[in-house]
Parts: sequence; C-alpha cells; structure tokens
Amino acid sequence: MIPSDPKQVKQICFDRINIPDVHTLAVARKHGAYEFLPTVLAEFTAAKIIDEVKVSGLRGRGGAGFPTGLKWSFVPRNTGKPTYLLCNADEGEPGTFKDRDIMRFDPHLLIEGMIMAGFALGVRDAYIYIRGEFVHEANVLNAAIKEAYAANLLGENILGSGYSMELTVHRGAGAYVCGEETALIESLEGKPGRPRFKPPFPAVEGFYRCPTVVNNVETLATVPAILKHGGAWHAAIGVPNNTGCKIFSVSGHVNKPGNYEVPMGTSLKTLIEDYCGGLQHGSVPKVVIPGGSSTPWLTAEHYNTPLTYDGMIKAGSMLGSGAVIVLDETADVVSFTRRLAHFYAHESCGQCTPCREGTGWLERIMDRIEAGQGCEGDLRVLKDASTHMAGRTICALADGAAAPILSMLKHFPEEVRAYLAENAA
Ligand code: NAD
Repeated sequence: MIPSDPKQVKQICFDRINIPDVHTLAVARKHGAYEFLPTVLAEFTAAKIIDEVKVSGLRGRGGAGFPTGLKWSFVPRNTGKPTYLLCNADEGEPGTFKDRDIMRFDPHLLIEGMIMAGFALGVRDAYIYIRGEFVHEANVLNAAIKEAYAANLLGENILGSGYSMELTVHRGAGAYVCGEETALIESLEGKPGRPRFKPPFPAVEGFYRCPTVVNNVETLATVPAILKHGGAWHAAIGVPNNTGCKIFSVSGHVNKPGNYEVPMGTSLKTLIEDYCGGLQHGSVPKVVIPGGSSTPWLTAEHYNTPLTYDGMIKAGSMLGSGAVIVLDETADVVSFTRRLAHFYAHESCGQCTPCREGTGWLERIMDRIEAGQGCEGDLRVLKDASTHMAGRTICALADGAAAPILSMLKHFPEEVRAYLAENAA
C-alpha cells in the first residue's frame, strides 16, 4: 500500500504492479482497488475533486506536463452538450512504454482513476483509445472492464451513488499521429487521424465538438492516490512545480532497461546508475534523450540534471513522456538518427506541407549520408529543412522529426562528416 507519509513514497502507479494476478478484480480489491471510490462518490463534490487535483500539482504525464486540475477546470458546465473523457493510451513515442505496464498489470487502477475523473467532470461516456499494437493490453482492459461492470463499478448508478458512466476501449490502427489528442479525436469519430488546429482546445470543443478531457494513462492512474491521500500529500512528493512520482521508460545502452517509477527530482545519473545498473560501456553517456525521440539530446555535461519538467527545460531539452533513451560511447549517432528520420517520414499524416515534404527530405538525405554518398551541402540542407519545419505545422510531429537531426548536427558534426563521400573509407 502507498505510505501516507509523502517522504516515504517511492511509487504511486506501480504500487501494486508486482502482485500476481492484480489485473483481476478480486486480487486488485484485496490490495485496495476501489476502496476509496464509495467515499468519493458519496462525499466529494466535483469542485472538491478538481481542487484536490489542482493542489496536488499533478501535471499531464503524456508529455506536455500541462496542469491536470487546470485542464479539468477549463471544461464549461451546463452547455447542454455531453462532456467526454478520453484516455490517451496511444503510447507511440519511440522509447515510451510505461502506460502499457499500467494497463496490462493493473488495469483497475486506470479504470478507478477514470471513474473518479468522470464523476468530477460530469461524464457519462468515457473511452480508452489504445494503440492498435497493444492487443494483449486491450484484451486485459476489456476483461477488467467486464468485471467492473458486473460489480456495478461501471454502468448505471455506480455503487448506488446515482452516478452512471460507460467505459469503452477503442483500438487504434497503428498511426503514431493518433496519439496527438485532436488526431485521436478525429480517429475516434471514425475519420482519418489528422490533427486539428488548436485552439479551440478539446476541453471546450473536442469529441463531436463537445467539451472533452483527454488525459494520459499515467495521469488518470495517479488520481485515486491523490483523492485518497489528499492533494497536499501528492504536492509534498518530488519538488515544487514538479510534484509526485513519474515513470521513466529507460532503453538503450544500460544494463537493466525497463520502467522505473521514481519521485520527481531524482537525477538522471541516479536513475541510470542506481536503478538501471549503469551503462554498458564507459562511465558517462554519449547521449541521453530524456523525454522520447522527439526531445532534444543531452550529453555527458547534463548527467546530473534532475528529472523534472523545469530541470530538463533548463538543460535544453524536455521531460516529455519520460522515455529515457541512453546511448553509450559505442553508439553510431548517424545510423541512430537515420532510423528516427525513417520513423517520422513514415508517420507524417501528410496534412501539412512542411512536415509531409520535410520529413521525406530528412529521411532521403540521412539514407544518403549513412550510405557514404552524402556531401557537405547535405548538412546545410538538413539544418535548413529542420529549422523551417519546426513550429510551422498543425501538430508537433514536424518538431519531433527536426529534434534528432538538429541535435546530431549540434553535438556530433564531425561524426556526420566522417560519413560523407569525400571522407568515407
Ligand atoms: P500541448 O501543450 O498543446 O497541450 C497539452 C495539453 O494541455 C492538451 O491536452 C491541451 O488540450 C491542453 N491545453 C493546453 N493549453 C490549453 C488551454 N489554453 N485550454 C485548454 N487546454 C489546454 O501539447 P500536446 O501537443 O498535446 O502534446 C505534446 C507533447 O506530447 C510533447 O511534449 C511530447 O512529449 C508528447 N508526446 C507523447 C507521446 C506519447 O507516446 N506519450 C507521443 C508523442 C508526443
């Protein structure tokens, strides 16, 4: 059970993760699932719930770090339209694999968080939009939802409270861009997943143009602990403005890759050395990408950076979804970047010209360079194209495509030059 003393808290979303069969309702309930839900439904008002979440300092765990309580408070009331709650489980950022573990090991934590959020927002219909590749996770969720309906934790008049909520799992079809909230909404409406202009933000005009809250899996899974222990309890974990715990998906050249939930403010070095068993080669990383492949690279000088939204911005990157990709001294940054260029070109939805054309250019040039057929001018085009793509499109996919290219050119120009035709062996 999560300790009530915030100083003792090391895990929130992963509190039950290692309990065998905790994906079943009976085992989850034995370990505290839905224990506090009747109190919330009977004694909490919507305003109190939103207030507790605001006090908690919880920031969106999907990547942007937008304050969750504030987002909830933007939802207009009494519009005559339904309000929807959408859980973004389209976890597609290269390097990110945390939501998957919550869903497959402790689905009732997410369901409980969604009931509490739905109750606070006056939601009748809620959806989990899960990436198509997560077949097992979708099955686990559907089985858990079925059990929750049978136990009157979902559906009509939940636990006799008078509150009713339907929850449906919707599987995506493998498009990365559908993790962008407005593309997700389009896709859920049955249309091609293409991002919309923001504003209007979904909180005001989202699913079927109705007020809609889109929250990440980890964000919603944090809500039960916040309501049970209080917003102030959560705010005392981590550091100011970066409160609570965060799951980091660590991949690459570490000895023990995996998901680690740690209090915010833990240093990158501690995460890699104490939790992940250190680097495979050398004593400092060559590159660390702290927030998924779309975030700028950090190098050895930033090894002590605290894992916080603010700390990462100060270091020149972003905490993003907490997908820490580690490259040690053996890494070939050109080949690594070429693979990412291919990913973004493949995943661009093609709606905006700078992204559609730019990602293709980046991929073709990186292919050429890796094949030893590049020239000095290619480096100028890479930089120029990346700079002109970022910030000029409807969504952030183009920015994400530009980030690895610009980072590679900034930190390792000589390694790229060594690949050029005139220098290639
Ligand atoms: P954003 O800053 O535009 O929005 C963040 C959230 O806050 C959204 O839900 C948005 O609707 C809301 N919001 C912001 N301003 C608002 C306002 N004035 N009124 C109402 N709501 C408001 O960021 P984004 O484009 O949604 O997300 C970008 C992030 O997604 C990146 O930082 C990246 O790390 C992350 N990302 C994650 C994955 C993944 O797999 N988890 C994949 C790709 C990108």
